[in-house]
Amino acid sequence: MSVRVRYAPSPTGYLHVGGLRTALYNCLFARQKGGRLILRIEDTDQTRRVEGAVENLLSVFDWIGLAFDEGPHAGGAFGPYVQSERLDLYRRHVSQLAEAGHAYACFCSPQTLEAMRAEQAAQNRIPMYDRRCRRLSRNEAEKRIGAGEPHVWRMAVPERRDVLVRDLIRGEVRFESATLDDQVLLKSDGFPTYHLANVVDDHLMQISHVIRGEEWLPSTPKHVLLYEFFGWEAPQFAHLPLLLNPDRSKMSKRSGDVAVEDYRKKGILPEVLINFVALLGWHPSDDREIFSLSELVREFSLERVGKAGAVFDQTKLLWMNAEYIKAQSDEALFENVRRALADLIALNGEPRVKYALVVLRGGVTSYDDAVKRVREVFAPLPPADPEMAALLDDETARAVVQELETRLAKLPAPLWLRFDELETAFKQCAQEAGQTRGLKGKNLWRAVRAAMTGQPHGPELARLVGIWGRERVLAELKRSLATVIGHAPC
Ligand code: GLU
Repeated sequence: MSVRVRYAPSPTGYLHVGGLRTALYNCLFARQKGGRLILRIEDTDQTRRVEGAVENLLSVFDWIGLAFDEGPHAGGAFGPYVQSERLDLYRRHVSQLAEAGHAYACFCSPQTLEAMRAEQAAQNRIPMYDRRCRRLSRNEAEKRIGAGEPHVWRMAVPERRDVLVRDLIRGEVRFESATLDDQVLLKSDGFPTYHLANVVDDHLMQISHVIRGEEWLPSTPKHVLLYEFFGWEAPQFAHLPLLLNPDRSKMSKRSGDVAVEDYRKKGILPEVLINFVALLGWHPSDDREIFSLSELVREFSLERVGKAGAVFDQTKLLWMNAEYIKAQSDEALFENVRRALADLIALNGEPRVKYALVVLRGGVTSYDDAVKRVREVFAPLPPADPEMAALLDDETARAVVQELETRLAKLPAPLWLRFDELETAFKQCAQEAGQTRGLKGKNLWRAVRAAMTGQPHGPELARLVGIWGRERVLAELKRSLATVIGHAPC
């Protein structure tokens, strides 16, 4: 049997990380088995439709690098892949069920149903349709339909029997039919419900494995019954564990970022998100944590997906992002942030901006973080720290800074772009300037830092000179000397 799996989102506006995990596991499974991955849009709940949601979804998958073999945009032999374009099919299938006595028309109004629910709730019973229309004769039902009375179609759940769901992750899960509602299959507006459309499409699209979130497990016995009613073989089921917050509450929009788009904005790399999400439920055979997509395709297996909820740990995601960035060469990292630094490159030239990135990249957690650090080092300085400024009230320190400025100004221009040599030359100039007044060690460097930045902390000075370049270094030194003179008592 060939493997055909699907990701079947309802287009409600954004891609949830749980949805990404479902799509990814389906993708890994399909690629590993040489099967096909299908995208099917389940848009039968018209009240939840969001304009542009499908395009948005596709662009996020595009960014992630996850491609579908069949779907609304990829095409395929089993289309249309959008459920609202398949309405006729669902109606025909409901008629088939009704013919065989597995579905019946229900004329109960929303008010009747509401009263039924309220009464059941008052008696502490689980709200369920009381099946009153199931008892109508076929004749009577047909008459009322003929008279144009609004109605829905419900499935006739068999009484007193067990429905068995065989799940590749959970084993056998047994449901008593008495706990299953006579589910609406076709609504009065002619649209199918999720259950009917899902089963009909999975069958017609020859889906071999249904891999989806645990929240769909309670629906599965209804689906199993529908397959039985139609006389179809059901696909194999695999229900993935829930995603949890670190406090083990269910991951929801209210508890933090759940949209893939949010993580994209935070600077998480697509390959990191794939790696991270792959580990939410699936346990590799060793304790490795870094996997490329092709490694995942090789190693993934449904047998190693657990039942217990998987915790989505944001700290770990940032750690993983940092690991991926750490592994990039200076060239690669620079190429990845080049666009975000275009204005600085135009102003300062590529070599110095790149050098700044190389100097400052240690421990960055995202591209945004790297860009921020580079921007900061080129930005104007904040007002001087008073304690640092006070160091330059000292006449010796001032003379040393003056001497340093003179010596730096004499360095040959090309040296300013030979960063390693510049580092040595700068240190030498500073030490020699210090020697003229007996200033050395920590005192020397504190005075030089005070003159260059006015801040107690910052990048190593011998590297900052390379980043800033001749003009700015000399200007900063002159500026602080001028300020000191301004401060000095007359
Ligand atoms: N439309 C459902 C969803 O939004 C699909 C569930 C399934 O895969 O059967 O997740």
